[in-house]
Amino acid sequence: MRLSGWCALAALTALAGPAFAQTAAEHAPAAAAATHTATALPFDPDVATREWLNTMDPAAVRRSNSYFEGGYWIQFVGPIIGFIIAFLVLQLGWARGVRSWLEKTVKLYFLVVIGFFLFYTLVGVVTFPWDYWVGFVREHDYGLSRQDFSHWFTEYLQGFGLNLAIGSIGIAILYFVIWLAKKSWWIWGTIVAVVLSAVASMLAPVYIAPIFNSYHEMADSPLKTSIVEMAQANGVPADNVYVFDVSRQSNRVTANVSGFAGTTRISMADNLIHRETPGGVRAVLGHEIGHYVLNHNVSLLVMFTLLIVVVFALANWLFNKLSAGERWGIRNVWDPAGMPLLFSVIAFLMLVATPIQNNITRFHEHQADMFGLNAAREPDGFAESALLLSEYRKMEPSPLEEWFFYDHPSGYDRIHMAMVWKAHHMALGDIPVGRGGPPPGWHPDFVVMQHGANASATTAPQRSTAASHGAP
Ligand SMILES: [Zn+2]
Repeated sequence: MRLSGWCALAALTALAGPAFAQTAAEHAPAAAAATHTATALPFDPDVATREWLNTMDPAAVRRSNSYFEGGYWIQFVGPIIGFIIAFLVLQLGWARGVRSWLEKTVKLYFLVVIGFFLFYTLVGVVTFPWDYWVGFVREHDYGLSRQDFSHWFTEYLQGFGLNLAIGSIGIAILYFVIWLAKKSWWIWGTIVAVVLSAVASMLAPVYIAPIFNSYHEMADSPLKTSIVEMAQANGVPADNVYVFDVSRQSNRVTANVSGFAGTTRISMADNLIHRETPGGVRAVLGHEIGHYVLNHNVSLLVMFTLLIVVVFALANWLFNKLSAGERWGIRNVWDPAGMPLLFSVIAFLMLVATPIQNNITRFHEHQADMFGLNAAREPDGFAESALLLSEYRKMEPSPLEEWFFYDHPSGYDRIHMAMVWKAHHMALGDIPVGRGGPPPGWHPDFVVMQHGANASATTAPQRSTAASHGAP
């Protein structure tokens, strides 16, 4: 991971999360109590959930658990590497030296900040082996990536360049505000970080996404018509569906409804159409439409703003404590020489806040799931999608593990929710009565299993920002 990835702006969206694995819990009985009350259900949702889960063979379960649990460690190790680099840059006197040299050379505070940020980002190049292992080697080990090295590396460089360009503007603005606000920087800094992140997230689908993927209109089909109808019935002002070529990079299934005002668009990965039944596609899009209709961008922004203001306040305290007496030559919080310390302190606090971040996100994902079930009315498609996501998300975590590490409900919870929905709607008579579990002989289209990867690997996932935000 690049150093600038830990900057104050990224802190808003960075989802960190650490790590220990526990054996899968049997949480079925507790959930079951609530579901067997008023009506006699045509099938038992717990049994049906188990039937869906049993379509995964033991090797697939092992692989899924191993990939995801390894990700817990990665979320810790990445920041720790960053802390070590920051410490060295400070301890060796590089930070103060570069700052002083820039002050003599470019003079303007604004340029000193940008210059320092460029220096620090370039120092971060030493983390390349780690980025390469997490982003390329490991993804291939688990059969999730489809890219050869040159494509992966090209995108890596593009990301690095974007990070430098956009990051330096954002950091310069942030430092300027810190310099203006002085002691109360953590309040004004929060406002700036949040506004910049909101602008970035609005512009990213329009300006950044097309750099990495090409988008085209989905060919007319009954499925497309039903997606547009579902969107419009729920008040989404979109009359077209776009498909983008995620298959260039990975096997992941993903979709989103993005934009605002006149730019609202429904986009989905080509993988989604190729790998899922029409019911599965509709279930995923129902979920994405839910995020849009429920205005999750706004409520996420509000909740993360509250988190950031607390993190910045604590960061202010910690920064002043650690740099007391001009340690490492850091004069104050707006001194660019303190950038490695400030970023590290913020990254550390965000790491500690991992469960808070995950609970905020998972809360919204659960809402979108419920909305999607009601909008798409595809409980089996919903279960199918939850199973496909097991390629990179463990299906049955312990409750504590889910609380700490999951930014989405677990696969078990999602399938169980769909089966409860299905059983009650069958009981109500508004969907045809049938069996609870998967159609006989059905099995998930696990690409990773077909292309084979090393099932005994002991490590697990990177949650790239793009992937985790777009993933259903
Ligand atoms: Zn979602």
